[in-house]
Amino acid sequence: MLHSKPREDNYLHKGLRKQLVETVREKGITNEQVLTAIENIPRHFFLDPAFERIAYEDRAFPITAGQTISQPYTVAYQTQLLEIKKFDKVLEIGTGSAYQACVLAEMGAMIYTIERQRALFDFVGQFFFINKYPNIKRFYGDGYEGLPSYAPFDKVIVTAAAPFIPPKLIQQLKPGGIAVIPVGDDNGQKMMRITKDKDGNVHEETLGDFSFVPMLGGKNR
Ligand code: SAH
Repeated sequence: MLHSKPREDNYLHKGLRKQLVETVREKGITNEQVLTAIENIPRHFFLDPAFERIAYEDRAFPITAGQTISQPYTVAYQTQLLEIKKFDKVLEIGTGSAYQACVLAEMGAMIYTIERQRALFDFVGQFFFINKYPNIKRFYGDGYEGLPSYAPFDKVIVTAAAPFIPPKLIQQLKPGGIAVIPVGDDNGQKMMRITKDKDGNVHEETLGDFSFVPMLGGKNR
């Protein structure tokens, strides 16, 4: 996975990607900028060449170190909830394969993404496609801490199952900002959208059911 050498993106891949976009649309995603970003990003680059077709099925897939690349529908769902605008400053917890980060970057946002697994962090650093996005800044660290020195953020997205809403991430959200976090345990999570109004008051909405790998504490070497 995540090869250092460029790979081919041919008419077959593009056709499969159009079908994937239609599938995601049928499941309820309406934001055209989100759909365009998915159409523009060769998801097969993020998987091994043996899994080129599976890359365009709407499913999560194991990458390395027991982690997954999120399901395209889930990526689209979280991204749509964030109401991304060009130049939004976005904090992502759980870089993983960096697919979600690339979707946000493709939409013109400035991404600050944290990964706690050293091996995954290093893999992504060698991935040729990541160089397409100078607007992605990557950090090796513990997502529960956020990035205080880069705060505040317009948007926060957590792509692992959080046992509770991490307080520091909400502190690092701008007034008027939106955070999207799957909250729950191994048995499943509810997507939560947390908004901070202009006066700094926090509002929570509980949305659909999802299943992410757990958000763990601390860094892992
Ligand atoms: N956004 C990713 C999904 C990755 S799966 C993608 O598009 O592929 C979730 C990721 O969160 C894993 O890589 C896992 O190692 C990472 N993670 C879990 N707990 C974390 C934490 N506390 N801080 C940072 N990353 C974390």
